[in-house]
Amino acid sequence: MTDPHPTDTPSDVPGPEDATALSEADAPAVPPLESSAAEGTEEPAPSTSVGALPMPVVSVQAEVKDFHFPPVINGLDFLARAVQELAPESPRADLKYGILHLQAAAETLFKARLEMHDPVLVWRSPEGFDKEKHQAGDFKSHDLENTLRALRKQVKEKALNLHTSVPAWKPDLKALSDLRNRIAHFGGRDTRLAVQARVLPILHLVFDLVREDIWPYVLSSNAVHPGDMETAGSYLPRIRRSLGKLDDFVAQRHESIRAQLAGHERSTIACRACGQFAVVLDGRMVDLKCHFCGKTYGSGAERAWSYVGSDPLTQCGAGTREVFPCGFCDEEAVIVASTKAAPQKTIAFCFACDTHHDGICGDCEHGRSLNEFGLCDACTGMRVGSFGEKRGSP
Ligand SMILES: [Zn+2]
Ligand SMILES: [Zn+2]
Ligand SMILES: [Zn+2]
Repeated sequence: MTDPHPTDTPSDVPGPEDATALSEADAPAVPPLESSAAEGTEEPAPSTSVGALPMPVVSVQAEVKDFHFPPVINGLDFLARAVQELAPESPRADLKYGILHLQAAAETLFKARLEMHDPVLVWRSPEGFDKEKHQAGDFKSHDLENTLRALRKQVKEKALNLHTSVPAWKPDLKALSDLRNRIAHFGGRDTRLAVQARVLPILHLVFDLVREDIWPYVLSSNAVHPGDMETAGSYLPRIRRSLGKLDDFVAQRHESIRAQLAGHERSTIACRACGQFAVVLDGRMVDLKCHFCGKTYGSGAERAWSYVGSDPLTQCGAGTREVFPCGFCDEEAVIVASTKAAPQKTIAFCFACDTHHDGICGDCEHGRSLNEFGLCDACTGMRVGSFGEKRGSP
């Protein structure tokens, strides 16, 4: 597909959020664009009069043109930085920048792909689309979640063909967003290994998007100026190399715990910190911990609350409940989760007595064995009884 770009200079138009994502520290490492910055600059001649003040107009113009980062190159730079900062050998302090840069890379590159398809779609209010405002970046664009939604809609309606499977707001991306927010507002507490493993699928997802769905079309869509192609292309082997190192590092860790997890697949759930299937529910008296990243969840029923990151006082009402009472031991300690043995299915575990239930009953909301209607035997019996009473009543 060619996916022609309707505007002449689409790469000049990062949205406002893109601009704010660029810290001063980011600016110097983006490929220098001095040559394009100088082109067409009609700077007034400096005054020759003695004692004349400097011409502020000149420096202001130069600065404005220096702040010119085409979204695709910008996104590649963010991604290259992220994968480098998240590398096994990078300083611990770099991890937080790796998270911030990965979030910026994901948002910038998914948005750039949507813009390559149709610039109107990146506007939060598309009915107000204005080409000049778009090129000036004077508009509100979607956040990552809504960008993904817009891309999925285009794919579903067959208006756009992508090789990358565009995720919904799936747990990995949500986890990335949560990590970013915690760094920005509260400070992160996960281990280095947990962070690296958690974001690895996102790094692959964004890199796949670049390789399969952006890079082949950057020239035909004018997303990258021909003069910038060499610079843009230089990012790809760097990202691939760093990503390979991180893959090897995480794979080695999995290999080192393989024997500990063997045979427990039906009781092994994913860790909330690192996202790996490495938390084995193996007895109420044992401190629950992740064998991959070392995160601990406490013991007894409290493990359930620790696992969901909540407590009985703050658990909210209908629809948001995460911990349910157990139909066997009656403790409020049942969580719905997938296991390593069947990652696509969910079952209900009691963290207090280790019972595996089919799920949560739709009536009594206890973890129990369920029938085809999603109800436990007791609740089914009550429904049948009340149905019989109604039929029998005059
Ligand atoms: Zn973990
Ligand atoms: Zn129980
Ligand atoms: Zn029930």
